[in-house]
Amino acid sequence: MCAASPVPFAPGGDMDSPSTPREVDQLLTHVDWVVTCDASMRCIPNGAVAIDGDSLVAVGPTDEVQAAFRGRREMDLKRHLLLPGLINTHTHAAMSLFRGMGSDLPLDRWLQEVIFPAESLHVNPELVYWGSLLATVEMLKNGITTFCDGYFHEEATVSAALDSGMRAVLGQGILDFPSPDQPDPGRSRERAETFLSKFPAGTDRIRPSLFCHAPYTCCAETLQWVKALCRDQGILFQMHLSETAGEVKRMVQEHGTSPVRYLDQLGILDSATLVAHAVWLQPDEIELLALRGVGVSHNAESNMKLASGIAPVRQLLAQGVRVGLGTDGCASNNDLDLFTEMDRASKLQKVASLDPTAAPAPEILSMATRQGASLLGWGREIGSLEMGRKADLVAIDLDQPHLTPLYHPISQLVYAAQGSDVRHVWIDGRHIVDGGCVKSVVEAKVMREAARIARKVFHRGNPVRCT
Ligand SMILES: [Zn+2]
Repeated sequence: MCAASPVPFAPGGDMDSPSTPREVDQLLTHVDWVVTCDASMRCIPNGAVAIDGDSLVAVGPTDEVQAAFRGRREMDLKRHLLLPGLINTHTHAAMSLFRGMGSDLPLDRWLQEVIFPAESLHVNPELVYWGSLLATVEMLKNGITTFCDGYFHEEATVSAALDSGMRAVLGQGILDFPSPDQPDPGRSRERAETFLSKFPAGTDRIRPSLFCHAPYTCCAETLQWVKALCRDQGILFQMHLSETAGEVKRMVQEHGTSPVRYLDQLGILDSATLVAHAVWLQPDEIELLALRGVGVSHNAESNMKLASGIAPVRQLLAQGVRVGLGTDGCASNNDLDLFTEMDRASKLQKVASLDPTAAPAPEILSMATRQGASLLGWGREIGSLEMGRKADLVAIDLDQPHLTPLYHPISQLVYAAQGSDVRHVWIDGRHIVDGGCVKSVVEAKVMREAARIARKVFHRGNPVRCT
């Protein structure tokens, strides 16, 4: 439950005295509710935060924060709610340019008949850059400050993440058949090593990763060298796993065991492995994921749209598995909005168990924030509003009919708020969305470029059945 008690804050140790407030870069004050997403999911009425550089130096009631700090820039956020930036733990940002293609197909036909042919014809660095930038604009406007990505020509997504100002884990995609940036799968290791060796240094806001598409598109040898490379570099290994009943059946036929047990036999499962979907799991597989410390990205809307099934989120959490939320690529969603994702994720668990107490709002919000941060290896830096954390924050406008009245801020966030309610976003203390407008890139130009590329996709021998 959300306790409406103030969060004690420790004033800076370098304060002269309470009568001489310490000067910091920014103060955000008079916030109707500060939803901290700390370990107890505390909420502060009439709250404030103090930001210095890229970090939070205080989180507490407005009168206490104002007594201790003076901001070089101060912002009154009356009629707003402040929460940590949302964390999208699984997406394919560039696929925003395939939004709406092949709707209403099952996963295998959607992939084989629509997405793979479209990717082989159209995916190049230009499409990946502008598609990824379009996705970052959409995510920022929906209050997402961090995303975890896996795709081809991932260097272009790296550029888009840097240009947008977002925080991201960026995974080069690997398959055992020709892909848009590696026509010869025999050279995919070279491709992965090149990606890692050229990854920009000098910022921790973006981190590299490798992304094996799935256990049915990557052989044992590929999975093992990719995981070994990830271990060697200390980076996150990502893959889709047990997404459909058909995948599990095929793996059992071909390998004599389920995808989870197969990966465990190969030594792939550990706390630096993030699996997306994990819909079809037996109880002993859930125990295995918990034992190995594997992180799971739950993609409720993608699983609903492709009719993949309902992931056993309650059971995963009950066993202590870390579960975050993901949008998946917006070709299978079809948007990048974690507010609607939170609502659907909770309601899916309730209807699957016929238990309205399942997946309560604080648990779901924790998945979209602090648990998501933990999955990506950023559990100490982001995911909650606490002193010393990075200043990644989102302010939503409460002055709207669908958010009135407000009895319980976390319930309101999960079941009533929408991405379009976001008015302000800060990442590393940088005010990136101001009054609903993205300041890091020119949104109109991104939309123009996206439309230009979409016209090429439409006209250039397009095999895609657009339903
Ligand atoms: Zn995916």
